[in-house]
Amino acid sequence: MAVAQKVKERMEAGSWIRRIFEEGAALQQKYGPENVFDLSIGNPVLDPPQGFYDEIRRLADDPAPGMHRYMPNAGFPETRASVARQLSEETGIEFAADDVVMTCGAGGALNIIFKSLLDPSDEVIVFAPYFPEYGSYVDNHGGTLVTIPSAEGFLPDVEALEQRISDRTKAVLVCSPGNPTGVLYGPETLEELAGVIAAKEQELGREIFLVSDEPYRRLLYDGLEYPHVFRFHERTIVATSHSKDLGLAGERIGFVAVNPGYEDSAEVVDGLIYSNRVLGFVNAPALMQRVVARLQSATVDVPAYQRKRDFLYGKLTELGYSVTKPQGAFFMFPKSPCEDEIEFMTELQKRRVLVVPGRGLGMPGYFRVSYSVSDETLRGSIPGFTAAIERYRN
Ligand code: PLP
Repeated sequence: MAVAQKVKERMEAGSWIRRIFEEGAALQQKYGPENVFDLSIGNPVLDPPQGFYDEIRRLADDPAPGMHRYMPNAGFPETRASVARQLSEETGIEFAADDVVMTCGAGGALNIIFKSLLDPSDEVIVFAPYFPEYGSYVDNHGGTLVTIPSAEGFLPDVEALEQRISDRTKAVLVCSPGNPTGVLYGPETLEELAGVIAAKEQELGREIFLVSDEPYRRLLYDGLEYPHVFRFHERTIVATSHSKDLGLAGERIGFVAVNPGYEDSAEVVDGLIYSNRVLGFVNAPALMQRVVARLQSATVDVPAYQRKRDFLYGKLTELGYSVTKPQGAFFMFPKSPCEDEIEFMTELQKRRVLVVPGRGLGMPGYFRVSYSVSDETLRGSIPGFTAAIERYRN
């Protein structure tokens, strides 16, 4: 057997998205790509703002000597300083360049966080539904991902959390606005969550980190403001990227920020820098660091995502789907009209609409729809959603 048993098992467990991709490719071949409505993939459809191209041009026209060489593993000091300035402005907390490590996206950020924090058999708790890569990211570094259900409205079930935190818990991992629900955790929710963690830290005599995965934090709708997690818990580490807010998913650029109010933050940052190096990331891409240093307050056209959300949410609820209205990101997570969401997914697929079953995201009975697609694809999917739910009307 060429591939390690463990890798094989993980590939099997995460095979939903691949299976849908393969079925989608077959459908496209048969019916033509314009007649297949693939809402299964979370690939940012909006292109970067003009400032991105201006920066690339400026750098290409006036290259600094050595600008593509190795650099400190944490990233360019000026990029870290720029991220810190923006964070200070947004949070009202004083961040310094030393509190920031530039990474290869949020995925790279989470991997260096877990490598830095986890001892063998340490547990990371997450609320279902969740981004399925978390299981592998934690497992990569010898930890175990423990899943507990969300409460009503996909908010954290704090009672379940209180029950589940143990002397093995190293971190609680949250994602808001979430993939796959688009639900935002407001200040009261964060306060309650942090309260439970702090009480358990006291009881167990153990430090527990709140790790916040925030690649969608700037994709917020209806004028909502982002409640940053730092002021709720001392041991807070944020992982984020510019994959979605600047539309740079393929460029692999993001960062980790450690709460400057945490007394051992310098030690954590040292661990992150070491991990960036030895995991083979070495450093975040040089050119992208130069570019995003000047784009910290820029975003893609967020109202365009909101219009897509409004369209799809309006249509699905009109048709009778039960959906929690997303407040951000570019997913929604409707309840399957029949108990077995695989059966419903198949009904949609017969009508050339592709979605992801909830069981692939830790929550059967639901399915994930990505509206990060063209308006034509979104409109084109509606007849399929209409016909599929018709079968379950009574
Ligand atoms: N976290 C969540 C919740 C995601 O949805 C994704 C990507 O889809 C990532 C992390 C990884 O993002 P990045 O491209 O920044 O590595």
